[in-house]
Amino acid sequence: MVPLGGSGLALKDCPNAILGALMAMIQFLKKTNPMEKFKNILQIHGIRPNENRVMVLQHLTESNKAFSLCNLHQLFREKMDRTTVYRILILFTEKDILQKIPCTDGNLLFTLKTSDKEISKSPKFRCKCCQKVEVLPDLPVEYLNTLTGKNINPETIAIEGYCKDCHS
Ligand SMILES: [Zn+2]
Repeated sequence: MVPLGGSGLALKDCPNAILGALMAMIQFLKKTNPMEKFKNILQIHGIRPNENRVMVLQHLTESNKAFSLCNLHQLFREKMDRTTVYRILILFTEKDILQKIPCTDGNLLFTLKTSDKEISKSPKFRCKCCQKVEVLPDLPVEYLNTLTGKNINPETIAIEGYCKDCHS
């Protein structure tokens, strides 16, 4: 039997304690392994996690920016074709992980959907240079009232410009 540390404790003396320690370590690894985290997020949203889906979700989460299909396809072109990227974006949108932001230039951007329903309806700012998307404060009621009857969804209003980092 292999002694544990300097105590000379043998495995047969405390199997439950060791099993407990191993389980704790596995739980710890699961928590700290980013792949596991993204797999879990996909599963929670009813999506079977595969390598491509995990990769796209990880990228969208860690960059916290909005991407068009073209942007993402460029980034992952070594690993997947355009149709695969498109299908992942549509699936994530249907399953409420992403939201679409139509831009004034006709581009459709995808960004992570916030779990906060109110915020997800708020207008967004998009930096034309780095594609960062920020949530803006809600529009005043008087402003929204002037839009009534025009069938405009404030969720899709994106204000574009250059962020502080790109402006200076
Ligand atoms: Zn920027």
